[in-house]
Amino acid sequence: MKIGIDAGGTLIKVVTELNNERTYQKWLATDIDQVADWLNQLDDVEVSITGGKAQYLDSCIKHQAKRSIEFDATYKGIQIFLKENNIDLETYIFSNVGTGTSIHYATTDHQERAGGTGAGGGMIQGLSYLLTQISDYDELVQTALNGDRDKIDLKVKHIYKGDNTPISGELTAANFGHVLQHMNDAFPNADRLAAVMGIVGETVTTVSIHAARQYNTENVVFIGSSFVKNELLKNIVVDYTILRGLKPYFIENGEFSGALGSIYC
Ligand code: ATP
Ligand code: MG
Repeated sequence: MKIGIDAGGTLIKVVTELNNERTYQKWLATDIDQVADWLNQLDDVEVSITGGKAQYLDSCIKHQAKRSIEFDATYKGIQIFLKENNIDLETYIFSNVGTGTSIHYATTDHQERAGGTGAGGGMIQGLSYLLTQISDYDELVQTALNGDRDKIDLKVKHIYKGDNTPISGELTAANFGHVLQHMNDAFPNADRLAAVMGIVGETVTTVSIHAARQYNTENVVFIGSSFVKNELLKNIVVDYTILRGLKPYFIENGEFSGALGSIYC
C-alpha cells in the first residue's frame, strides 16, 4: 500500500493507493499526533510526505518516509488529476489556496513559483471569527451563502453614481469600502461572511491573473481545501477569472494534489 501525505498548515491530506484503488482522507493539522499513531500501526506501507509539517510528522513515525518539495509534489499531483480528467493544458497557472495562497506557473514538464498572497483559507477562518465569532468551518461557509455584500463592498458604480464608468461598474472598487455609508444599518453575519469571501476570492484571483498575464497563459487551475464546501468562494473566483478573460479550472479532489504527487515525485 502506498500512502501520500501533505501535512499542511491547517489540514493533513492523505491519499492511499492499493490495487489501483485510491482513497482520500483529511485530518486537522492539530491532530498530527493521531496521524502518526495511525501510521505507526501499519506495516508494509510505502509512506511519502510533503508540506510544511512534513519534518515533524516524519520525526514521529517508524517508517522510512520519502520526502519531496511541496511545490513539485503539488505540480505532479495536478498533472495526474488533469490527465485523469482529460484536461489537456500546455501551460497554466495553478493557485493553491491553502492556509495561505501560493501561485505557480506550470508547463508539461515543470513548475516555477510565480508569487503568492497572505489572503487564503487562513484569512477566511481568522477574519470570519473576528467579524462573527463563528469558528466552525461548515457553519461559516453555509452562512456566507445567504449573504449580500452590497452594503459592505463599494462597487465602481457606487462611486460613479450613474455616470459612465471607465471599467465595469460591477467591479469591486473597495472591499469593505461601503460600510461607513451604512453606519445605521445592521450587518448580519451572512453579509459579513460573504464580504470575507469577496476579499479573499478577489485577491486570490487578481494575483493569479497577474501571474497568467506575466507568463502569457490563459488557464488558471485553482486547488486547495479553501474551496471545499465553499460554493460562494468558488463562484466569486470563477466569475472574476472569466470576467478578466481567462479560463478557470477546478479539479475534483484538487486539494489532494500534494499528497498524491508526493507518491510519484
Ligand atoms: P498550507 O498549504 O498553506 O500549509 P494547508 O495545506 O493546510 O495549508 P489547505 O488544506 O489546502 O491548506 O486549506 C486549508 C483551508 O481549507 C482552511 O484555512 C479552511 O479555509 C479550509 N477548510 C476546508 N475544510 C476545512 C475543515 N474541515 N476544517 C478547517 N478548515 C477547512
Ligand atoms: Mg497546502
